Amino acid sequence: SKPVVAIVGRPNVGKSTLFNVLAGERISIVQDTPGVTRDRIYAEVQWLDKAFTLIDTGGIEPDSKDVILSQMREQAEIAIETADVIIFITDVRQGLQDSDAKVADMLRRSKKPVILAVNKVDDFNKYMADVYEFYNLGIGDPVPVSAASRLGIGDLLDEVIAQF
Ligand code: GDP
Ligand code: MG
Repeated sequence: SKPVVAIVGRPNVGKSTLFNVLAGERISIVQDTPGVTRDRIYAEVQWLDKAFTLIDTGGIEPDSKDVILSQMREQAEIAIETADVIIFITDVRQGLQDSDAKVADMLRRSKKPVILAVNKVDDFNKYMADVYEFYNLGIGDPVPVSAASRLGIGDLLDEVIAQF
């Protein structure tokens, strides 16, 4: 069967926007149990000669730091259990956050391939200097993208399929 790729990251970093860009029209919503964070959205994605199943693990929008972190841990656990490759997405505007570092530690320990996407780099000249701090997560080279402006998406997909 096809490789599975999961998107993990804090609320508001742009997971759904990236998911929609990568999925195009081919989205199927799968709800395991309504209202539960383990609800997932699946899409079939084709890039060059490779096809894969993409999962957005984002569920309900949490409203406190404690809930954010526990939901992120749950997302990361789902991704580690089910995915062959994990896209860990962060936000260059908000910068590196404590919860990013904690989830990066979980992902690193899992030994799964992780692609680190730094989103909202809408202007590469303006924001590139702020991308480098994400090297501190210790999960490899950050890939700058702008999901909203569809910049860097091809490079990101190249990195993903190189892991299959
Ligand atoms: P999620 O909570 O991680 O799923 O994030 P969303 O995809 O819902 O996006 C959260 C907010 O960030 C929305 O207002 C998006 O329009 C915005 N956003 C997403 N991607 C980008 C981007 O590349 N650049 C900018 N400037 N905003 C973005
Ligand atoms: Mg979302």
